[in-house]
Amino acid sequence: MQSGAQRERSKLRRLNMVMEVMPRTPIELRVIAIASLLSANLLLSGCAAIIEFVDVTANGLPASHDPRLVSTHIPTKAELEFHDSLFIVDLHADSLLWGREIAQTGRHLDLEKMRAGNIALQVLSVVTKTPGFDVSKGCVPHDGLNSAALLAPLQGQPVANWFSTRNRALEQATRLRGEAELDIQSALFDLETSKDLWLIRTVQDLRRLLDARSQAVQRKPIGVVLAIEGVHWLGDREMTSSMIEQQVDEIFEAGFRMAALTHRFDNGLGGASEGCNGFGLTPQGRQVVREMVGRGIVVDAAHLSNQSFADLFEVETGPLVSSHGGVKASFNVSRNMSDDDIRGVVRSDGTIGVGFWPEAVGQRGTYVEAIGEAFEEALAVMFEKEFVTEMDAARLATNGRPYDPYEHISFGSDFDGAVTVPFSADRLAFLTTHLMRRTTATGDQLFPMEKIPLVAGLNACRVLAARMPSEKAVRPSPISVCRIH
Ligand SMILES: [Zn+2]
Repeated sequence: MQSGAQRERSKLRRLNMVMEVMPRTPIELRVIAIASLLSANLLLSGCAAIIEFVDVTANGLPASHDPRLVSTHIPTKAELEFHDSLFIVDLHADSLLWGREIAQTGRHLDLEKMRAGNIALQVLSVVTKTPGFDVSKGCVPHDGLNSAALLAPLQGQPVANWFSTRNRALEQATRLRGEAELDIQSALFDLETSKDLWLIRTVQDLRRLLDARSQAVQRKPIGVVLAIEGVHWLGDREMTSSMIEQQVDEIFEAGFRMAALTHRFDNGLGGASEGCNGFGLTPQGRQVVREMVGRGIVVDAAHLSNQSFADLFEVETGPLVSSHGGVKASFNVSRNMSDDDIRGVVRSDGTIGVGFWPEAVGQRGTYVEAIGEAFEEALAVMFEKEFVTEMDAARLATNGRPYDPYEHISFGSDFDGAVTVPFSADRLAFLTTHLMRRTTATGDQLFPMEKIPLVAGLNACRVLAARMPSEKAVRPSPISVCRIH
């Protein structure tokens, strides 16, 4: 039992303790406020430093960024002028993952680098789940450590995003919408005050972008298309058919116009090329494809397993893209497209985006030579005699335009995709110049000059124009939308 004096003393101690943390004067109040702000700031700048460190480490460039590693040929003035006359589309970059604005200085890709590299339209894909490759299993298990989720708290995202792939996708879309012009119709008539980035959501927006870029004297707007790399949450077991419809509506309303069912691991929608099971599309996956196609969201076949690819070709999809990656014909690794995958995308009148990084295209000679090799081998599949005969007959039967293999290949860099793309967007002219100059084993030019504008952007533009929603009942023809006057 405490005596009366002891009780008094302990009461006083408690009171003193309370007094220590309670502000007694406005000055103390301010001191405490400043101290709390400083510690919060320290915490935030610590997080920012970690995010920047991860961004810089993940999105590697060769140590010296030495142009001679990229290409032995430095583009001439005439070649640079030709590059600058192109409408360039890149089908895949992951820059939104790193929590920065596109206008901020980035590693592979940012506004200034896109300007310098003359990118006219950039597909920006959101990534929400990234378990790593498990060497012992030889695949990417779906339940490995998800580093994309770890970025959410570091970036100060709300707790609701820490555990939800859907919320993280919508968060990245909201951030881009905040930075991009949404009223493109008006922007076209007031180029001086419009934002630098235009979010392209309809066929007509695409045409407005082409018009604006040909009208603008100085500041050309750059189009961005929102995409998703793996709509994992749509594959959850509890998703009913009507819930899937609602969720696809939601991603459409958020501005997404391209989506891949899977990323590197199998999910409830289908098997992935690096997944552990190699299965095909699930019934849920097939429904998601139909819902996307119905709304004008382009289906991206990148990362699908061979079986999923084959299943996808059975669904009515219209032109497909495989936005980024290499081809097995030039570099035989599990994530790359087989000859059948390539032929399927061509049959759909789609296009394949050749990736720029060594893990997809291999390493031989300079970096652009390895990328050029992937272009050459993919084209070789499209030029196979039997396949040309098949495509000629198919086009004749449907009154389509004559088959041209050069219409089915594009750029799919994977800038800022946690891979070592060996040059940043501002040096894209090194690649176009290499493609202009590249000759085949028989000494012919791989790309006749008139085909370079197709591969550099017009093919990707055509596929987007064929699938994106139209503001008018009569759709303009994709070729007319993507024509440069
Ligand atoms: Zn990818």
